[in-house]
Amino acid sequence: MNKADVQKLISKAADICNESGGRLTEKRQRILELLLHSDTPLSAYEVADRYNKTADRSIPVMSVYRILDFLESEQLVHKLSSANKYVACAHIACTHSHEVPQFLICRSCESVKEIGIKKSIVDELSAHVRTAGYTLMNSQLELDCLCEKCVGSNV
Ligand SMILES: [Zn+2]
Ligand SMILES: [Zn+2]
Ligand SMILES: [Zn+2]
Repeated sequence: MNKADVQKLISKAADICNESGGRLTEKRQRILELLLHSDTPLSAYEVADRYNKTADRSIPVMSVYRILDFLESEQLVHKLSSANKYVACAHIACTHSHEVPQFLICRSCESVKEIGIKKSIVDELSAHVRTAGYTLMNSQLELDCLCEKCVGSNV
C-alpha cells in the first residue's frame, strides 16, 4: 500500500476512534501504519521489532499487545487466532457496517484476504454448532488457502 493511501486510512481511523470516545495516539497510529504497510500478518513481537527499529524510544511487547487490543476493539485490526498474528482491517475506508470477517490465508506466501460472507452462512454454521450442544463464541473463519499467485506455482 502506498504512503498516500495509508495516510487516508489513518485519518479515517482517527475519526473512527474519536466517534467511539477513544483516541488514536501517536503510538497506536504508528502500529496501525506498520500493519497497513505489511504484506503479511505480523505477530506482536514482529510489530515491536519493526516499531523499535525506527523509534527513538523502544516499546515493550506488553504495550504492543495492549495497543493491538485497542485497535482490535475499534475493528481497525483483526487477530488471526490460527497464526496468533494481526492484520489491518481491509474495510477501514468503507462506510458500510463491518461484517463478521472471514480470512483467506495463503499457506505459501502468507498473504491474507479479508472477505465478508453472507449472514445466512454464519447462522447456519452456528445452528450446526447448537445442534452439537455447543455455543459458538466467535464465528470468524480462517481458511487455509493458496492465493491466485501461488496456486499457479503449486500445480
Ligand atoms: Zn475488517
Ligand atoms: Zn468494505
Ligand atoms: Zn500466496
